[in-house]
Amino acid sequence: MPAPLMSDVLPDLVEELAYLLRQTGAEPLIEQLRRLRIESICDCGDDSCSSFATAEEVKVAQTVELPASEGFLMIDLNVAEQVCFVEILNRPDVKYLLEEYYAAS
Ligand SMILES: [Zn+2]
Repeated sequence: MPAPLMSDVLPDLVEELAYLLRQTGAEPLIEQLRRLRIESICDCGDDSCSSFATAEEVKVAQTVELPASEGFLMIDLNVAEQVCFVEILNRPDVKYLLEEYYAAS
């Protein structure tokens, strides 16, 4: 089974990230966002964490912290400026949708 598109599982989050990237002056990343797949869920075990990897290999070269109005959102880029990890903390709404998706599949 191919990894799910982030925009299928978390459409509202994609729009929220797009909005915040625009505010941050990182618009070029928005197009990438819509094509990202959730490759694996973070396994740190922290209850507040709903981060996930969007590349098979996560090697962070650069981070973009976003001015989230709720929780903590940060996008990690690899050296090729591809999004490889999305850090999401204290967002029960996102956690709920991820759990629901993976429980159903
Ligand atoms: Zn985690």
